[in-house]
Amino acid sequence: MTITNGNAAVHIGNLRPAPTRNRLKDTPVAGGKRVILAAPRGYCAGVDRAVIAVEKALDRFGSPVYVRKQIVHNIHVVSTLEQKGAIFVDDVEEVPEGSHIVFSAHGVSPAVVKGAADRNLDAIDATCPLVTKVHREAMRFDRDDYEILLIGHTGHEEVEGTMGHAPDRTTLVNSPADVPNIVVKNPDKLVWLSQTTLSVDETMLTVNLLRERFPTLQDPPSDDICYATQNRQVAIKKVAESAELVIVVGSANSSNTVRLVDVALENGAKAAYRVDYSSEIQQEWLDGISTIGVTSGASVPEVLVQEVLDELADAGYADVSQVVTAEEDLMFSLPKELRKDKDGNDDERGLGGRVRKLDWQA
Ligand code: SF4
Repeated sequence: MTITNGNAAVHIGNLRPAPTRNRLKDTPVAGGKRVILAAPRGYCAGVDRAVIAVEKALDRFGSPVYVRKQIVHNIHVVSTLEQKGAIFVDDVEEVPEGSHIVFSAHGVSPAVVKGAADRNLDAIDATCPLVTKVHREAMRFDRDDYEILLIGHTGHEEVEGTMGHAPDRTTLVNSPADVPNIVVKNPDKLVWLSQTTLSVDETMLTVNLLRERFPTLQDPPSDDICYATQNRQVAIKKVAESAELVIVVGSANSSNTVRLVDVALENGAKAAYRVDYSSEIQQEWLDGISTIGVTSGASVPEVLVQEVLDELADAGYADVSQVVTAEEDLMFSLPKELRKDKDGNDDERGLGGRVRKLDWQA
C-alpha cells in the first residue's frame, strides 16, 4: 500500500533494516572527532499521544483499527503500528462501515468527520491539541468575517484540515514568493495563521512581507508554530554553530524534520542530511569532518537516534556531548474514548508525554 502525504509517497510495510555495525570507517581527522547532540529532539507530546492512541485502540478493540493517513509522519512508527494490526487508509471511504477509525495527529476537516459519521464509523480523534487550537482560531475568525491568510504547505494534511474549518475565507500562502500575488477582498479585516511545523524564521519573513502589503494585518492570538517545532529549531541552531555536518533523523514527509535540515544549513552547518535509518549515513559525508551535530524530528522515536550514534561511534565519533536549550515536560490527555479501560476504570496510560518509553523501543 502507498500513502501519500503532500509531496512524498511512503510505502508502508518495510520495517526498520537491522542496524548495521562497523560499516563506516574510522579515518583520522585533524582536531579529533566528536558528536554534539541537540536537545530537545524527537517525540513531542502530540506525537506521543497519537501513537499511544492507536496502541490503546488496538488493545481495547482488537485488530483491525483503521487510521486515516499516517498517524504521524514517520515511516518506522507507521510500519511498526501496521505490524501490530493498524490499517492505514487515505480516505474514510475505504473503511468498512461500523469500524473503528483514528484520525491522525495532523487533524481533519469537518468534511472528513462527517464522512466518517455517514459511514457509521467509531471515530477516535488523535488530532494534536495544538492543531485543534489553530482550527478553533480559524473558525472564530471565519465567524467574525475575517479573511485568513494561512501560511503553510500545499497538500500537507494539517493545512487541508485547517482550511476545511474556514474554506470560503482562507487563502494559502506557501512562501514569501507568494506574497505579491495574494488577492484579498478587504485588507482591513485580515489575519494570518500558520501550520504548526514551519520554520520560524521563514514564517516571520513571510509575515513581514504580508504586512508591507497589508499594514493592518492581525497576528494570531498566540503562536501557531508549536513549542516542539520552535524548541527543536532553537536547539539545532545552537548545534549548527559548531558542527560542520548535521544529521537529522526523520522521514521525508515530516515537515518539522525537513525544516531542521534547512535551519542547520542556514545557521552554520556546511552540510546537513536527513536519514530515516542509520544505515543511510554515507561514508563520504564524514570525510574530513571533525564535529557532527545530530537531532531528530518531532515524530522520531529515540531508538533511531541511538542507532545513528552507534554507527557514528564505529566511525570514531564516540565522544558525544549534548546541547540543551530547553526542558520539555508537556503532556496531553488522551482522546476521551481511550481514557478508561473496557471495564470503565481510569487507565494508567491516560496521559501521553514524550518521556514515555515505548514497549517496542526495547
Ligand atoms: S509537532 Fe507540535 S503541533 Fe505537531 S503533533 Fe507535535 S506538538 Fe502537536
